[in-house]
Amino acid sequence: MAVTITPPGKGRIITCPDCNGMPGRDCLECHGQARYVRRACPLCGDVGWDYVNGMNDRDGMACRISCGYTWSADDPGWRAQVLPAKAHGASADLVED
Ligand SMILES: [Zn+2]
Ligand SMILES: [Zn+2]
Repeated sequence: MAVTITPPGKGRIITCPDCNGMPGRDCLECHGQARYVRRACPLCGDVGWDYVNGMNDRDGMACRISCGYTWSADDPGWRAQVLPAKAHGASADLVED
């Protein structure tokens, strides 16, 4: 990829409110990571964007409130908005109840 954007780009890493930041939970929101990236407009960083088709990222996203920018799911500034790779090496441990 030609464009390198440090994760999570303009997104914000927030503690998962569903599981109160407890790692390893069977949590749909954060998939047990205890935190997730709240994605934002790749241009202005506003989190008030919409799916163009109202359902998913297939037709792209639009920052309708702030800057009017529209982008696709392949936008590098959008794709960068994921949790950074785990710094600690315990990723092989799967917690199952
Ligand atoms: Zn969670
Ligand atoms: Zn915007």
